[in-house]
Amino acid sequence: SGRWARAMAILKDLEEKCATPIGKLRQVADAMTVEMLAGLASEGGSKLKMLISYVDNLPTGDETGLFYALDLGGTNFRVLRVQLGGKGGYVVRQEFEEVSIPPNLMVGSSSELFDFIAAALAKFVASEGEEFHLPVGRQRELGFTFSFPVKQTSISSGTLIKWTKGFAINGTVGEDVVAELTKAMERQGLDMRVTALVNDTIGTLAGGRYYDNDVVAAVILGTGTNAAYVEHAQAIPKWHGLLPKSGKMVINMEWGNFRSSHLPITEYDQALDVESLNPGEQIFEKLISGMYLGEIVRRVLLRMAEEAALFGDSVPPNLEVQFILRTPDMSAMHHDTSSDLRVVGTKLKDILGISNTSLKTRKLVVKVCDIIASRGARLAAAGILGVLKKQDRDNAARDGSDMQRTVIAMDGGLYEHYTRFRNCLETTLREMLGEEAAPSIVIKLASDGSGIGAALLAASHSQYL
Ligand code: ADP
Ligand code: MG
Repeated sequence: SGRWARAMAILKDLEEKCATPIGKLRQVADAMTVEMLAGLASEGGSKLKMLISYVDNLPTGDETGLFYALDLGGTNFRVLRVQLGGKGGYVVRQEFEEVSIPPNLMVGSSSELFDFIAAALAKFVASEGEEFHLPVGRQRELGFTFSFPVKQTSISSGTLIKWTKGFAINGTVGEDVVAELTKAMERQGLDMRVTALVNDTIGTLAGGRYYDNDVVAAVILGTGTNAAYVEHAQAIPKWHGLLPKSGKMVINMEWGNFRSSHLPITEYDQALDVESLNPGEQIFEKLISGMYLGEIVRRVLLRMAEEAALFGDSVPPNLEVQFILRTPDMSAMHHDTSSDLRVVGTKLKDILGISNTSLKTRKLVVKVCDIIASRGARLAAAGILGVLKKQDRDNAARDGSDMQRTVIAMDGGLYEHYTRFRNCLETTLREMLGEEAAPSIVIKLASDGSGIGAALLAASHSQYL
């Protein structure tokens, strides 16, 4: 029928506009490398902020004692305590608690958010068992993982540049987030000092390195996306401080804000961006990360409903609700292997209120999920290649000697749970690296490595050292 033909035309157009042939991905990877250089050269020199983390030493395994971490990233935050064994003893004991952030606090006031967090932290500390041991007279010390762009002023202080990922809180931008947390802890009567302020990418890199010496970069694919890596301190022209003894500096790229004319951006992406809380920003993130993939799919299906009556004569009202289709639901539909695609049928009914869909329609929905997930995964692979190129780890050694092993610590619910996304990313990266270089590059899932990483950095920056 004419309707079906129109739906297929919309699909074909989507497929063309989202295409990421290897040649295009190479252009994206090269653009990433170029922007990295520009961001390192000068403040404001690039869309990539290339933030200096003040972490010039990564964990060694010698860290000892009881330390805490607080991970504030997306929709949840986690509090964690770890007893570190030192000298190869690693993590002797650890406990964590996860608390979801009430949506009203994500768009409320700064003090309300920090009070809520400090209260949860105080409760967590109060529940501590005998098996965790803090030496007498010592203050508790915390690594604060704060996964938003921060301009660090030291390892334990930094001001918020902007909120991302659906947070829009008045009065925090430009403030020192450690000072905000410290004041809130004082209001709770909690005696604890923040000794390290890190991004989740930095935490993941530190946690990854603790267990594997070849970890030199970290990537987050969760609600948002970002990457961090180890840079040579002399390769950072905008750094005017003393060169660290290690000669190294960890850089928080804030790659979610990357953009390039080579990115395949559709009208759906443009509309999503314009209607978002942060228009014009985080363009790479809006193509790739878990907060947005389901929403892009919803926008495509809405177009098909409006222009091709895909779901009948009227447009299903729920399909017009922004962010109603979440990425985990998209992922469940994409992974549906039943012959009648019954998971797709159920999701369409339960979430969008569309019942009695034909198998043909369900297949079309899966195809849309596939196009959007593949584009995101392939662009993420291109980003990783860009980082490897900057580190000169993308090529097999020219003299034929064995290539050094390179490990990328990965964290985030999108990568961890969206199997088809993960497989596509890994296949694409291998294809771009080629069969000589690919075997020496390893992506290692470090689930919640960032919490441990932050606690480790709190330990290595302890006031008692
Ligand atoms: P955050 O990024 O907020 O710190 P996570 O790393 O746990 O938290 O990532 C959570 C995000 O991962 C969710 O917002 C969602 O987009 C994505 N996600 C979680 N589960 C799945 C799933 N089963 N399939 C696809 N995406 C998922
Ligand atoms: Mg996280």
